[in-house]
Amino acid sequence: MIFTHHIGGVFHIYLSVLFITKTSVEQKILGYETIIGIETHVQLSTLTKAFCSCPYPYGSQPNTTVCPVCMGHPGTLPVLNSKVIEFAVKLGLALNYGLSMTSKFDRKQYFYQDLPKGYQISQFDIPIAIKGFIDLDLPVEFGGGHRRFGITRVHMEDDAGKLIHSETGSYSQVSFSLDLNRTGVPLLEIVSKPDMRSGLEAAEYAAEIERLVRYLGISIGNMQEGSLRCDVNIFVRPVGQSNFGTKRLMVSTLLLVAFTG
Ligand SMILES: [Zn+2]
Repeated sequence: MIFTHHIGGVFHIYLSVLFITKTSVEQKILGYETIIGIETHVQLSTLTKAFCSCPYPYGSQPNTTVCPVCMGHPGTLPVLNSKVIEFAVKLGLALNYGLSMTSKFDRKQYFYQDLPKGYQISQFDIPIAIKGFIDLDLPVEFGGGHRRFGITRVHMEDDAGKLIHSETGSYSQVSFSLDLNRTGVPLLEIVSKPDMRSGLEAAEYAAEIERLVRYLGISIGNMQEGSLRCDVNIFVRPVGQSNFGTKRLMVSTLLLVAFTG
């Protein structure tokens, strides 16, 4: 089973994950264990966007830091900001990655209201970095212990715009405004292996990523402003079972077991 949760802060991870999972010991008593993997989007602190010369000052008036390139107008040519590569390499080295000496970008085609150009520039089969890991020590007050979490890949991509919803009462009256300032802002996506076994480990992983990107100076790592965003994938399986992710129908029930067990 899988449960994907969009999170705005480390404390939200504590609230959202810690309370729906148990410690490893508690999980084994229940006969189940939790498997957690995290995808983290890191918004890079470059002076300009990934493929054009627009700046991205957070909080600007909507649609004031855009150009034909980041809006994907016909005939425009994206030119990669070299700082994106530099920051990706920094993060790759810090996460003990194997860096790709040759890499490429791919178009990820999809339609959504915040993406009027109809595609995201991302990386598919040859990401900038693969097979890394992160080491951390759990807080002593939670039992301590050293953990190593594998990381599958880091890839570069550009961000979409932002929808600002306003509700006036009924579904037919829901409307939104579109702010394209964030369109084209560079991101690094860090995809972890499903190596975490509790909400505490997931929260510590996210906190370590936050500290790391700030230390490297590649992102302000501010979750409240959306410059660090996590998607948490949670699987629950019987203890001793080696595979997971095939039984998605029991999400509510298994989460309830985790809650009440
Ligand atoms: Zn632009």
